[in-house]
Amino acid sequence: MAVSPSPTPSAAKAQKTWQVHRADLPLSCPLPEHAVWNEHPRVYLPIVEEGGRSVCPYCGNEYVLVD
Ligand SMILES: [Zn+2]
Repeated sequence: MAVSPSPTPSAAKAQKTWQVHRADLPLSCPLPEHAVWNEHPRVYLPIVEEGGRSVCPYCGNEYVLVD
């Protein structure tokens, strides 16, 4: 299998980047629609305090605040 360098490390993994809105706060992972495939203990991500971007320590999903 070929392993090629990736300029975007997140793209090399299965994790995705999700856009979240302030209306969705407080942000928790997994999101309700993710719960089936993304099971891990629910964790709240302080995305505002982290400057509008958080990465879940359990599954590696990235959340970006877009408004
Ligand atoms: Zn997660």
